[in-house]
Amino acid sequence: MRKTYQFRAYPNKNSEVNSIRTLSTCRYLYNDSLAEIKRQAELNRLKKIFDVFPWGKPEWINYYDQANCLSGSKTDFQNEVHSQVLQNVLKRVDRSFKNFTKSKAECAGKIVEFVNPSGTSQTCICGFSVPKDLSVRVHICPSCGLVMGRDQVSAILIENRPGCTVGTTGIQDRQGLSSREPMQRYAKAL
Ligand SMILES: [Zn+2]
Repeated sequence: MRKTYQFRAYPNKNSEVNSIRTLSTCRYLYNDSLAEIKRQAELNRLKKIFDVFPWGKPEWINYYDQANCLSGSKTDFQNEVHSQVLQNVLKRVDRSFKNFTKSKAECAGKIVEFVNPSGTSQTCICGFSVPKDLSVRVHICPSCGLVMGRDQVSAILIENRPGCTVGTTGIQDRQGLSSREPMQRYAKAL
């Protein structure tokens, strides 16, 4: 069974220019998105050193954040390219960053588990649906009155999701989330 095909294209000048434009746009998007994630990772590292996390957890940028951001702020070049192509570029960035994180963790003898975060930013801990844009960073629940950082609510929901172990894209996240440990130790002492 033939599974792969190789094509040779003979583009005219017009399609050649178009292809180069598309590829350049994708290349710039890839590099910019990766740079954004790296900046955030560096920020997390610095925050950890100086211990300024309000809730003990760093923030991470994932594919969904970047895809949502992109749809609202496309450049003229990006408007020329099909949106699925751009989303695919972002998915590749996400995958390569996850692989990088995984390999780094393995070197350090740590485990990284990935959990699907879909819907965790639009729901309250009480189960009430609280839809909000990416720009809204504080979660305010009209049902139970909970006011909390958006990412903290997401982290709690992921942690409590049935069938899921605590999973994040960050190793430090995992350490920050396992707050039960000291409590158990405290209980033993009693
Ligand atoms: Zn609530």
